[in-house]
Amino acid sequence: MKNTQEIALRLTEVRSRIARACARANRNPSEVRLLLATKTVDIPRIKAVLELGETLIGENKVQELKEKGPSLVNTVKEAHFIGHLQSNKIKDVLKWVSCIQSIDRLSLAQKLQRRLEYENRSIEVLIQVNTSYETSKFGVAPEKAIELIKEVAVLKNIKIKGLMTIGLFSADEQKVRKCFKVLKNVQQEVRHLQIPNVTMDELSMGMSGDLEIAIEEGATIVRVGTSIFGERAYPDSYYWNEEKEIRS
Ligand SMILES: *Cc1c(COP(=O)(O)O)cnc(C)c1O
Repeated sequence: MKNTQEIALRLTEVRSRIARACARANRNPSEVRLLLATKTVDIPRIKAVLELGETLIGENKVQELKEKGPSLVNTVKEAHFIGHLQSNKIKDVLKWVSCIQSIDRLSLAQKLQRRLEYENRSIEVLIQVNTSYETSKFGVAPEKAIELIKEVAVLKNIKIKGLMTIGLFSADEQKVRKCFKVLKNVQQEVRHLQIPNVTMDELSMGMSGDLEIAIEEGATIVRVGTSIFGERAYPDSYYWNEEKEIRS
């Protein structure tokens, strides 16, 4: 992991990658938010980027969120949950985040609704779609996304704001791009249906390796970790296909 000076330089580089991609795609850079994927990143490093003007972070693991939350609550403007969520951890996540980007099944949304009613609040969510069809990744299948969105939309305290995906890891740009196009297509289909309680403004897609492609395909949030903070000690499989069989 990098020190704070290196992190500052790398952040500048990521910012200019975003700006260049926006320029190429004829988009206004203000349409694309940078979410700092801060899993495994310690508090001093996170604070260092927040001091540089960043406002949005995303965490993957409930345990890590619980540990970091108290130190960050006064510094970070906005925190999202971007990892796989087990329904028995909903309460802990709600304490720290304003958006859950990883809603991928009705049972989870129903339990979330119950908890929100109990707390008398609402929350923003994105629906996670498995656009690469890899069994190792979470997310609803693209062809089942609309059905899920309709079902979640009736849960009054849950505000669907858009979609999230993790693109295929591949050197084949066309295959990666296809994932983002699939997400965009789902967005357009859902918009067409004009489902009450659903807006589809957000497309959270693109990471360190593919943020340019995602921006070209319409991303409004890119989630970046490695390009800013350096390599992580754990492989991403640790975060993305943990214990799939015990999903609740
Ligand atoms: C870790 C992570 C990212 C960032 O990945 P990098 O390749 O490190 O930029 C984005 N999205 C999710 C869901 C992640 O878990």
